Amino acid sequence: MARADQLATHSSRPDGIERVYLSPEHRAVNHLAAGWMHEAGLVTWEDAAGNQCGRRAGATDELPAVLLGSHLDTVPGAGRYDGVLGVLVAIEVAARLRDAELPFALEVVAFGDEEGTRFGTTLLGSRALAGTWQPEWFELVDAAGIRLADAARAFGLDPVRFADAARTSDELLAYLEVHIEQGPKLEFADRALGVVTSIAAAERRVVTFTGEARHCATPWELRHDALVGASEGVLAIERIARSRGSFATVGRIHVEPDAVNVIPGLATFSLDLRDETADGRDATWDAIHHELQAIAGARGLDVAISSTHVAPEVVCSPSLQAAFSAGIGATSDVDSDAPLSLFSVAGHDAMAVAAVAPVGMLFVRCRGGVSHHADESVRESDVALAIDALEAAVLQFALTYSHDAAEPR
Ligand SMILES: [Zn+2]
Repeated sequence: MARADQLATHSSRPDGIERVYLSPEHRAVNHLAAGWMHEAGLVTWEDAAGNQCGRRAGATDELPAVLLGSHLDTVPGAGRYDGVLGVLVAIEVAARLRDAELPFALEVVAFGDEEGTRFGTTLLGSRALAGTWQPEWFELVDAAGIRLADAARAFGLDPVRFADAARTSDELLAYLEVHIEQGPKLEFADRALGVVTSIAAAERRVVTFTGEARHCATPWELRHDALVGASEGVLAIERIARSRGSFATVGRIHVEPDAVNVIPGLATFSLDLRDETADGRDATWDAIHHELQAIAGARGLDVAISSTHVAPEVVCSPSLQAAFSAGIGATSDVDSDAPLSLFSVAGHDAMAVAAVAPVGMLFVRCRGGVSHHADESVRESDVALAIDALEAAVLQFALTYSHDAAEPR
C-alpha cells in the first residue's frame, strides 16, 4: 500500500494522477519498480518498448517463464490502484517465491502503456511484448503534436529496435494478472477476490448525423436538426443495450456549427459497445443500427457510421482459471471454497498477451466499483488476500505443470 502511495506521487499534474507512456513520470516509476524487483531477487531490465521487466531463473537457466504483471500508466485523474496493484502484487509474490524451486522461470512485467492516454491507441506496451506492435503506431501523435517515434527516442529507446521487445510462445508458459475489478460485483457478493472467465468483446464506432444548419427562426416543420436526431439515437442506444445486457457508452459528442443561434447541421458521437461475447455485441449493434437508421429516416437526416476499433472476447485459460480458483481456496476469503467467477467488461493487458501465451486474471474488490477516478480504493486486507492467492496460484500451476511434464507423451 505504501508503494502504491509512492507511485501516486509521480504525476504530470499537481491536481491528480496522470502518468503516460514515454514521459518523465514513466521513467521515474520504471526506476522505482526496478528497485523493488531487484529487492525481490529478480534480474531487471527495461525492454525495447519501455516495459520494466524482472526475472529469476527456474531450476535450470533455459526454462520458459510464467509472467506476472500489469501496467503502471494511468488515465487522466486516475486512482492509485488500476494497473499499479497488479504490478506490486506480482513483485511481492516474486519476493515470497525467491527461494522456491520452480519448474519454470518467474518473470514480472510493468507495462508502460495499457490505457492509451497519450497516443489514443491502447495496450501499446503489452502489444510490443506480444509481438503485435504495428509499425504505423510510430506515427501516432500526442496532444502536443509529438510523434510516438520521437517520444520513444526522447525516452532513450530506439524505434528500430522495438521489435526486440517481442516474446515468443516458447518463452512464456502463462501470464497471470491481478487487477482491481472496476465494477461492483465482488462487493455485492461480499467477496474480496474473483476469477476472471473472459474479457469482453468490444467495438468502437463513430456515428454522424447530418441535417441542415439553419437560422434558429426556422419553423419546426422545416427543421432537420442533426443534434436532436443524435440525442434520440443516444437514448435508443441506452434502451437497447440495457435491455440486452450489453454495455454501451456515448462519451464524446461534437456539434457543427456549434453556435447558440444555429440549428446543428451535423452531430457526431462516439459509441463504445461491449458484451461478454462478440456474438452478443454484434446482435446488440444490429438492433442499434436498425434504430439509428429509423430515427434518421423519420427526421430527414443522413446517418453515417464508421468502426474505429474492434476486439473479440478473450477467454481466460481454463487451467489458469483453475489455478486462481485453487489460489483463492488457499486464502481465507469468504466462502472461498466456491470462488466467484466473473467476466471483465474492461480491457486489460491480458488481452494483448493472449496472442503469445495463455492468460489468467484475478480480480480484487474495489470500493463502490469506482475506478479511473481519484476515489479508487481497495482494502489492505483484500490486497493481502490477493498476494496469498497469486502465490498459491503460481504454486498450483507449478504442480500441474510438473505433473503434465512428467506424463508420457
Ligand atoms: Zn488497468
